[in-house]
Amino acid sequence: MTRMLIIGPPGSGKGTQAERISERLGVVAISTGDIFRANVKGETPLGIEAKKYMDAGDFVPDSVTNDMVRDRLSQPDAENGFLLDGYPRTTAQVDYLDQILADGQQELDVVLQLTADDEELVARLLGRAKETGRSDDNEAVIRHRLDLYHGQTEAVVAKYAERGILTKVDGIGGIDEVTERVLTAIESAKAV
Ligand code: AMP
Repeated sequence: MTRMLIIGPPGSGKGTQAERISERLGVVAISTGDIFRANVKGETPLGIEAKKYMDAGDFVPDSVTNDMVRDRLSQPDAENGFLLDGYPRTTAQVDYLDQILADGQQELDVVLQLTADDEELVARLLGRAKETGRSDDNEAVIRHRLDLYHGQTEAVVAKYAERGILTKVDGIGGIDEVTERVLTAIESAKAV
């Protein structure tokens, strides 16, 4: 049973890696960004609310995000493990996740951080913008999302490092190569 987080700046490939790890380890991958995008597409009230923030590259408020995560983690497929991608992004969300897990007498096993340099990320995201047409992939918004990562999400990483459950993985390289690095990192983290 494995409860994991994957954290990384926008464009670090965390979504792609999360899908692959989920397949290999047989745990469900839960991406808050994907849940928001599905709601935007379906024009649900949650999606309509979230879209304003997403298009600007801002965080969706905790009043929306936290309940959504609590609800998703309470689904039966997450009972025996999960890989959470894109949450928590702020220290307040870390506190909230601690509470969700404590309520279920659960603990995190591993927190993975994918690392990559900012200029590489901007180049990748501009490339992705052309392919997918994601509305939050233009340069000004990309830079804002990176600023939020450095300003807020790095403090999340520091918290898990203090707890001794953080593993950093170099996110630069081919997709398969990075997947192998991630799987090796998970194995060694679990062996500790
Ligand atoms: P992602 O696919 O992880 O890059 O997320 C896309 C967008 O969804 C982000 O830029 C935010 O607007 C929103 N989002 C995803 N996860 C969170 C979160 N944990 N807290 C707030 N907003 C989030």
